Amino acid sequence: MSPKFIQATRVTFPNGSIRGTGNVLAVEQFGELWAVILDETPAHPVDFAWPDQPADSVELTWPGGSTISTDVIVAATDGNELHLGTEIPVRKGTEGWNFCVAHILAGPHPEVGQRVSLDVNAQLRSALSIGHSACHLASLALNRAMNDRWTKPISNDALGSANFDSVANSKSRILPRGSVDDYRLGKSLRKQGFSTEDLEADLRNIESNLNQTLSDWIQQDSEVRIETEGELLTDRRYWVCDLPESSVRIACGGTHVSRLGELAGATATLAVSEIEGAKLLQMKTEVPI
Ligand SMILES: [Zn+2]
Repeated sequence: MSPKFIQATRVTFPNGSIRGTGNVLAVEQFGELWAVILDETPAHPVDFAWPDQPADSVELTWPGGSTISTDVIVAATDGNELHLGTEIPVRKGTEGWNFCVAHILAGPHPEVGQRVSLDVNAQLRSALSIGHSACHLASLALNRAMNDRWTKPISNDALGSANFDSVANSKSRILPRGSVDDYRLGKSLRKQGFSTEDLEADLRNIESNLNQTLSDWIQQDSEVRIETEGELLTDRRYWVCDLPESSVRIACGGTHVSRLGELAGATATLAVSEIEGAKLLQMKTEVPI
């Protein structure tokens, strides 16, 4: 089928789905691989612009075949050609473009028009959801622990702390039951009013405040939910958590736990290194089994 007929994929992972069925809209060959696009899928694809959360692993079963895709990515078409992942030439939501989930398969694949059952690896999904929620919570706790280092006003997070995470975060990686976040402490951050004075000497103190906040919040076992404005990849999605101080709403396209109690024992560690003349703060978050 020509790409111009490919509709945007409906995604059901924001409501926690790990199983579903979809009709095959397109099967495109790329080298030795096949990109299979369905009208609906529960599988979470890795994002092409901010690839923080890795793809789900999902088993596809159709009349006469079955296989596992561990490479689930975003695809987009303007009606002429199908572009995959980082080769998508436009921003998500660009008018005239449909954004789809492509299940990349190496071997057997279903054909256009077939109905496919999808079964996401629940263990991996759960571990990544734990890692992603821990990442959001730790970044809010880090904002609070860094708050008195700001000498000029900047925008605050939902809890009233200067939003260090939003201005300094340069890379975020979600891992099973954990995350790694990089924060660039360069000239532009200092110009905005962030003081790096004695940061290394103060690091253990900041870390201990951060972990105390994390542990207090997790103990409250607040509900976490994803709010969506629609069922397509281009519809905005938000991570919402009712912390004791206030409800927090953060734009996020990932998957999450449903209660903070699932993050019991989460800890964050901080380290500062020097990269290309600028200081880099790295925060690693881990949730023990
Ligand atoms: Zn997120």
